[in-house]
Amino acid sequence: MRKLYIFDTTLRDGEQSLGITLNVREKLDIARQLVRFGVDVIEAGFPASSPGDMEAVRTIAAEIKGAVICGLTRAVERDIDYCAEALRAAEAPRIHTGIAVSPVHMEKKLRLAPDQVVEAAVAAVKHAKRYVHDVEFYAEDAFRSDPAFLVRVLEKVIDAGATVVNIPDTVGYATPWEYGELISHVMHNVSNIHRAVVSIHCHNDLGMATANSLAGIKAGAGQVEGTINGIGERAGNTSLEEVVMAIYTQRERYGVDPGVNTREIAATSRLVARITGVPVPSHKAIVGANAFMHASGIHQDGVLKERDTYEIIDPEVVGIPKNRIVLSARSGRHALRHRLVELGYPLETDIDMLYQRFLQLADQKGEVYDDDLHALMGQNGANGSGICFKNLSVTTTGATTATATVTLELDGNTVTDAACGNGPVDAVFKAIDRLMGWSVKLEDYTLKSVSRGSEALGNATVKVRSGDNIAVVGRGVSIDVIEASARAYVNALAKVKGITTGR
Ligand SMILES: [Zn+2]
Repeated sequence: MRKLYIFDTTLRDGEQSLGITLNVREKLDIARQLVRFGVDVIEAGFPASSPGDMEAVRTIAAEIKGAVICGLTRAVERDIDYCAEALRAAEAPRIHTGIAVSPVHMEKKLRLAPDQVVEAAVAAVKHAKRYVHDVEFYAEDAFRSDPAFLVRVLEKVIDAGATVVNIPDTVGYATPWEYGELISHVMHNVSNIHRAVVSIHCHNDLGMATANSLAGIKAGAGQVEGTINGIGERAGNTSLEEVVMAIYTQRERYGVDPGVNTREIAATSRLVARITGVPVPSHKAIVGANAFMHASGIHQDGVLKERDTYEIIDPEVVGIPKNRIVLSARSGRHALRHRLVELGYPLETDIDMLYQRFLQLADQKGEVYDDDLHALMGQNGANGSGICFKNLSVTTTGATTATATVTLELDGNTVTDAACGNGPVDAVFKAIDRLMGWSVKLEDYTLKSVSRGSEALGNATVKVRSGDNIAVVGRGVSIDVIEASARAYVNALAKVKGITTGR
């Protein structure tokens, strides 16, 4: 079995598609979970793109051990200088640089002749080599390039010191047979290919990203790039969990070992969904809520007789536990911590504060399920901002008019104010705006129930954009849907404040 390197770009290709800014703490939480999952490379960002990205990559490089930390650049010296600076404290740094190689990109976007592209590619790799040993070169839009030209570029950059060469299907245009052929062409025609690892990077515009990636692996690629839940530009990137489980279920066929801990898949997926605010569709392969649900009577009967009849993966292998433990108000701190650790949460978190919220919840709804705990944890991520929700009351008169009174704690002071609005949620948000003395634009608001029953938790998600164009997602949960909405809005404002004040 040869080693298949897993390259995760959730924090770069994934984040760049979200239209929101994740704060450094959220990125660190994702990066830590990726290490637990066992990915080999974490692409942490594009340092030259913004001061925020620079800072995020720098922090991840300094704090995350156990994976190669990679930063993206264009084939531009300044980008590479920034990237090297951001990666300075990394245990194992990698610079990922490159340039487009397809006719349409070279002519229309870069306005460079092919020879100039080769020159820029080689210069970029050489420049990156001055800082780090590990340099990955991406041939952007490789799938639509002239294969002979691609071979020429790859030979030159490997000679210049590239340790990994990435052959992306940037626009998601390939089908498995053609993509496999291209990778095979590279393996057989690039004379010095044995000195580099061939990497594949696919997009899902035609729903082929996983299939194309598997074709690339069969053709000899040694590294696969993708994201958790397949988030990414347009229709998304390759879902790493799908590639990993496709190989897991048919290992002999691929002859590669991804060397990851599949039992971390469910936890990783949930964490990314929660932090990015991008929900996983219920029918999504491997990580969707229904992925292991058998609805048809015939299927249920079969699975009860023998699991293999309709189930190709044991849900425990991807980290969905069989025994659902239910906590209640009688559960102690220890039981709560134990369950949270089992569910994959890093518990440097302040357990006391969390325990108080847990008790409130247990008092309100009796039994606390795993889904409730996930929702509870989803509210974290804005500690230290000095903004804290206390309580609220709302009165409605008629169908639409409502008055809300909200109490917050702001930098240690308890403050209360009231406002009117069109309906209770609007009134609450307006009261919060008055208390803060500044406001944001509400771009999206969703309310979902967590777990079952009429006493189920309400899980509110808001997307807001500040005056200086910072967009964030805030989350809040409560058995009271208005309170859940208030908590989500306060959570978002706390994040905006955290980003603007660098906390
Ligand atoms: Zn991409």
